[in-house]
Amino acid sequence: MRLLAIFAHPDDESFFCAGTLSKYASIGHEVYLICATRGEQGRILHPGIDPESYPKGPARGRLRQGELEAACAILGIHPPIFLGYQDSGYPLEVAQANPQGFMHTDLREVEEVLLEHMAGIEPQVVIGFDPQGYYGHSDHIHLHRATLGAFWRAGQRMPRPPQRLFFPVRSPARVRQTRFDPEVYAVAENSFAVRLDVRPYAATIRAALLAHRSQVGPEEAFDQVLQAWPGLLEEESFVLGGLRGAFPSMPTDDLLAGMV
Ligand SMILES: [Zn+2]
Repeated sequence: MRLLAIFAHPDDESFFCAGTLSKYASIGHEVYLICATRGEQGRILHPGIDPESYPKGPARGRLRQGELEAACAILGIHPPIFLGYQDSGYPLEVAQANPQGFMHTDLREVEEVLLEHMAGIEPQVVIGFDPQGYYGHSDHIHLHRATLGAFWRAGQRMPRPPQRLFFPVRSPARVRQTRFDPEVYAVAENSFAVRLDVRPYAATIRAALLAHRSQVGPEEAFDQVLQAWPGLLEEESFVLGGLRGAFPSMPTDDLLAGMV
C-alpha cells in the first residue's frame, strides 16, 4: 500500500503522526510526505543555532529542509516533497501581515498541485490536516481545505483514487494538558476512527522530533517538549476526513483495516 501525508511545515509530521508514518514504513508500505513550505518563519529554539546565521526566509527554510530530510530518514519514509510555498508565520496576525505566505495562495491552485502529486504517487491512504489545523495555524487550515478538495476531486481525475482520508486529532483530555483550549481544538473520542498505539515506536518518534533541532531545542530540554505534548509517545488518533468503500467498525487500530 502507499500512504501520503500532506503537511505544511517541517516538524508537523513528527509532532502529529510520526509513530504512524514510522509504523507503516517499517512493515513494508510506501510512505510519502508532502511539505507545503520549508518553515521559513519558524522560531529557533536551540541555543546552539544562531538565528542571525539563519534569518527568517530562504536561509531558515534551508536549515529546516535539512532537518525534515533527516527526520524522514529516521522515520524510514521517502524523502520529503516540498511544494515551495512560503511559511505564513504564526499566529494569525503575523500570517495576515505576510502577503507572500501560503495562507494567501489560491486554494484551487494548491488543490491542483496536490492532485498532480496524488496522481503520480497513487496513494490508497491520505493523511492531512483537520478543519482546525490541529491547533489553528492558518497554513494548516489552508492546506486542509486544499487536501480535502484534492481527495474528492481525485475521483474525477484518477483511475484509482485514494480510498481513505484521515486527520490526526487529539482528545479533550490531551488538549486540556496543553496551552490550547480543548473546547476549540479537541475532538470527541467517540468520533475517532483509528487509535494507534505508538509506544513501540517511541524511540523513533523521539529521534525524529530531535532531528528538528531548531524547533525542539537541545535534547536535555526535550522533556519540556514532551510535557507540552502529553501522549505524544503513546497514542496517535485519527478521524475520517473522507472514505471511498467500506470501513470496519470504529475505532480500529489500523489505518488500512479491511483494505486488500
Ligand atoms: Zn505546521
